[in-house]
Amino acid sequence: MWGLGASTAALFARSATGRAGVPHEKAVALDGAPAPKRHAAPERVTPFSLSDVRLGDGPFRRAQSLDEQYLLQLDPDRLLHGFRANAGLAPKAPVYGGWESEATWTDIRCQGHTLGHYLSACSLMSASSDRPDFRQRVEYIVGELSACQEGSRTGLICAFPDGALQLENSVKGAKVQGVPWYTMHKIFAGLRDAYVHAGNALALQVLVKLSDWAWELTHGLSDAQLDRMLEPEHGGMNEVLADVFEFTGDEKYLTLARKFCHRALLAPLSRGSDALDGLHANTQIPKVIGFKRIHELTGDPELLRASQFFWRSVVLRRSFAIGGVSDGEHFFPPDQFAAHLGSAKTMETCCTYNLLRLTRALFQHAPSSIYADYYERALYNSILASQDPASGMVTYFQATRPGYLKLYCTPTRSFWCCTGTGMENHAKYGDSVYFRDTSSLYVNLFIPSVVTWREKKVTVRQMTRFPESAATQLVIDASQPTRFSLKIRHPRWCDEVVVDVNGRRSVVSRSSGRYIELNRVWHPGDVVNVRLPMQLYTEELPGHPDVVALLYGPIVLAGKFGSEGIEAGGDLIANERTYGDVLNRPVDVPAWRGRPHDFPKSILASSEKPLAFQARGFEHGREVELVPYYSIAHERYNLYWSVSEPT
Ligand SMILES: [Zn+2]
Repeated sequence: MWGLGASTAALFARSATGRAGVPHEKAVALDGAPAPKRHAAPERVTPFSLSDVRLGDGPFRRAQSLDEQYLLQLDPDRLLHGFRANAGLAPKAPVYGGWESEATWTDIRCQGHTLGHYLSACSLMSASSDRPDFRQRVEYIVGELSACQEGSRTGLICAFPDGALQLENSVKGAKVQGVPWYTMHKIFAGLRDAYVHAGNALALQVLVKLSDWAWELTHGLSDAQLDRMLEPEHGGMNEVLADVFEFTGDEKYLTLARKFCHRALLAPLSRGSDALDGLHANTQIPKVIGFKRIHELTGDPELLRASQFFWRSVVLRRSFAIGGVSDGEHFFPPDQFAAHLGSAKTMETCCTYNLLRLTRALFQHAPSSIYADYYERALYNSILASQDPASGMVTYFQATRPGYLKLYCTPTRSFWCCTGTGMENHAKYGDSVYFRDTSSLYVNLFIPSVVTWREKKVTVRQMTRFPESAATQLVIDASQPTRFSLKIRHPRWCDEVVVDVNGRRSVVSRSSGRYIELNRVWHPGDVVNVRLPMQLYTEELPGHPDVVALLYGPIVLAGKFGSEGIEAGGDLIANERTYGDVLNRPVDVPAWRGRPHDFPKSILASSEKPLAFQARGFEHGREVELVPYYSIAHERYNLYWSVSEPT
């Protein structure tokens, strides 16, 4: 998102209520904390706590390490500047630039959003990393926010230069500058994550007081007033308020969560009507995560129907091959993909962040591999792809424009929405590799890692170089023989999966899109080898059979078109609005000549480098080098290819 002004928001954001994400580690037992509320619609599978999963060496671990370094470079006191100022306390350090303070973005009212994301990211890292620094940072920031709240007469903590004014305007129906509720959602979510992932009890206290402030401000509004207030982007306010209900058991927060459900989006979705054309994408996705969350707590079938329908509409009809959606941050008609291919502002990374949170929530309700397949696709090709392997900085848009390049934020002068979600993305790779129910362990992703299943006293170590190697190995460790069902995902992209247990052929699965189930008594040291052969294939741009992306297994390949005109560091930019206006250079991307289904046959794998290919058969006899899109950085690339018969 980039904070839409009120007038712009009104054009696009006919929305309801939503928020972005389900706590990863619910049911945190904290001294003095109320017992978690029982769920009306319990999830069929649950994720593991991030602290029970450790990543092994590989691209995801490297991305996490870069994120760790970046988070520790930032100064919490600079992020807290505006919060202290508004509480009548002297700031301890100067404010950061970009969206946090600079004039270019003053009208979007995102001051303080980064502190919220930063608190979420440090909380996630406190569970997923072994470094003690993150827990200390969480404690420091929560302590500071608590002090700011004490200085506030109302319970509100914020960093807006005009304090509560825009929020008060939003409930009065007066003109609102920017997206104040969007920014507030990040602060709510940061406190939620500090409680859930870092076990910080004070964070819950501050969050409850903040929720009480929101209750006082909004509970008396009529439906019409709420609809008007919820027109601009407001993040996942409905989700985080539902979380507060779960944490406290106090029904008033559930009432408030429902009030923050934007009926203008909910009503068509629950009727199975896709009215998304032209809407601001990242305004809608978090609302739907909130619908799903409230369904979990209430069992309301309308909310489940709406969230499942939205997922199918967006993921199956509106997404590009790497899993991203939108152009210029907005949904466009699904029959107009070709008209948007030349844009440098396709696929806002925040949208993928939120779609993955929604996907994960829906998977927990109904553990179908259709969700896990999308999760894998978008995780490698959009999220992993979004980080600069040199600087650790992250993308805003991921352009489909032929011959364009990835642009990244700067460390301290951007602070975009995608900088914030980017801080979180690389801190939680361990949260969706495995899931469990009372008798099963789901292996969804082939990422080197170790998971500790405390209830079963079982540890499973996954060793793999996937996708460089088309196989994975799982080693069971347990104090005693233990029965459970090991459910290994048979990905949609793989025709035949072969599973050996302790060196003996166990299963040959030819049914992709399901789980291979190994239900047995597992002994310490049991070894499961899984072969997942990958192939080259094409995937059409929706509605355009003569425009295709190339994939190898789940990995989207990009053509390499050189680094001309890109100086070191020149692709780190402060202003996301200049995407497409900078570093332009005509790039001649050739069409491929032949029948589409012959395209993969023209491609040879490198004998020297994994996941490197050479494609022939382009016009004028040209050849193109292909590598995973996730590995492209500081280089011009192409994702979609025109394919036509020679004339
Ligand atoms: Zn964004």
